[in-house]
Amino acid sequence: MGTFDLIRTRDLLQKTREGGPVNRGDLLSLLALPAESTESLTIMSEARHVSEELTPSGGEVHALLFVNSWPCDANCACCPLAAQNGLVATRSEITEQDVVGWAHSLEADGAAAIHLKCTCNYPMKDYLRRAEAVRDALCPETLMVAHVPRITGTEALDLARVGFGGACHSLRLREGTDSVFPPDSRIQTVEKLREAGLPIGTMLEPVGPEHTNEELADAILACAKFVGGSGGYAGVARRTALMGSALTAKFGMIGELRLAQLLAITRLTISPSVRGLCLEEPLEDATFAGVNVLFAGALPGSPKTKTEHPLWPNTTVHDIFSLYHGVNTTVWAGPSLLFRDKDETTQNASMEQTVARFWAKRETVE
Ligand code: SF4
Repeated sequence: MGTFDLIRTRDLLQKTREGGPVNRGDLLSLLALPAESTESLTIMSEARHVSEELTPSGGEVHALLFVNSWPCDANCACCPLAAQNGLVATRSEITEQDVVGWAHSLEADGAAAIHLKCTCNYPMKDYLRRAEAVRDALCPETLMVAHVPRITGTEALDLARVGFGGACHSLRLREGTDSVFPPDSRIQTVEKLREAGLPIGTMLEPVGPEHTNEELADAILACAKFVGGSGGYAGVARRTALMGSALTAKFGMIGELRLAQLLAITRLTISPSVRGLCLEEPLEDATFAGVNVLFAGALPGSPKTKTEHPLWPNTTVHDIFSLYHGVNTTVWAGPSLLFRDKDETTQNASMEQTVARFWAKRETVE
């Protein structure tokens, strides 16, 4: 890459700074840059700057709790829970009592939000019952985010009724080919969640080396549309060797720098109203590219007091604090500021009171 690419990249960044939209042609140019090039590193640095402006309070540590872990016979090639991928061999499920214990423990450690996730084949009534128990047990300021499969309009309203403040629904690459879902079904679910009043978070996943720049450009634009206007987050996840799928055996994995590049490009494409940039895998280099939502968590079957990320063991809330510090990112130690109106989060006086209340209640819990 030469001077021309650097000038073109700077022009493009100037356009985004002035509020200009990133179009498909821009995305194809950015995605074609080698991840280790000066131009690409400039984009990562700009993405970091944008995140710092949108969330001056710093990066947030969220907690991801799996309500159940069941192998799924639908066997989507891209899914770690697919029976054929062999990562999950037995069925386990969190009791109501344990899910409350875990949520409490993660909240007391400093998680800014509790996300509850279930598999596509888990009964919604059981999920809602556990969610209600967690909501009752948490501080009112602690945000709860639902990670749910395809749902009906009534189920979306139920999620809002039991006290979720946002919902995450992922955008899978090669939907309908590497998964059993028709491509439009994701959009329909997001519409139902929005109609129920739930702001949206989304992940573009699972990215592998086989995905073309054209596919990635279209997916990033779709992601931006998914979350547009909400105060939630967008993120990118790569398919990892840990997931053990036939796709990884065939195509391998993308490197961390490419992941950082994709995150930075996503940051510049989503609207400024979407303040969060999310990464599930705890990686320092990728976090540098403006990531401000990272996860600790727990999976059924682990002891109640062990609050580690289910797919990346040994990743606790405190580990994520350290990871942010490792890339010189301030950590927000209060209830999540995402999934809320920007006006609400810029009223510093009331937010200071909220944070004080939040920690006072946690001390009571501990
Ligand atoms: S994406 Fe959902 S339906 Fe497909 S294998 Fe995974 S859990 Fe099953």
